[in-house]
Amino acid sequence: MAHKAYIALGSNLGDREGHLTGALQYISGITGTRILSISNIYETDPVGYTEQGKFLNMVVLVGTSLSPLRLLDELQKMEQEFKRSREIRWGPRTLDADILLYDDIKLDDPRLVIPHPRMLERAFVLIPLKDVNPGFMVGEKTLEDMIQECCDKDGVKLYKKMDNGVGFCG
Ligand code: AMP
Repeated sequence: MAHKAYIALGSNLGDREGHLTGALQYISGITGTRILSISNIYETDPVGYTEQGKFLNMVVLVGTSLSPLRLLDELQKMEQEFKRSREIRWGPRTLDADILLYDDIKLDDPRLVIPHPRMLERAFVLIPLKDVNPGFMVGEKTLEDMIQECCDKDGVKLYKKMDNGVGFCG
């Protein structure tokens, strides 16, 4: 578990909360990977393609011995298992998983860009990230500064408080 990665999860189709908790279970089962901390769950208005249902979003901190690309392979396998629809970009999806951060690395691979290129513009990512990584800064900017600059911040509401002590972590 030499590495730490922050993963954003989102769902806006079917049993949204069930998909998120199912994803937590799936991630706990990935070889060499352990959930260290989870955010609360937030309900968020869709951004981009707005003719779709609201999302549930959360962020998970994992310890992992997998490389970034191997971790992405596992998360994409998970998305497939949740029968994610890729028909409309930004459109409805049973489960979306993005790697936000992996240690302090910067990666620009055709399959994987880290830090996630759009994370700083999205309050639905930054607000749950604050639960699990409150000290995250970019230059002089705190997470709160970044959240205040996000246009979508009013569309992100606490949906369910999560207890880090039970179930998925450890
Ligand atoms: P999306 O439909 O927005 O979830 O994008 C999925 C695509 O983004 C996949 O083809 C990934 O290979 C690519 N991708 C690039 N960077 C990342 C990242 N940090 N986390 C997850 N997927 C990424």
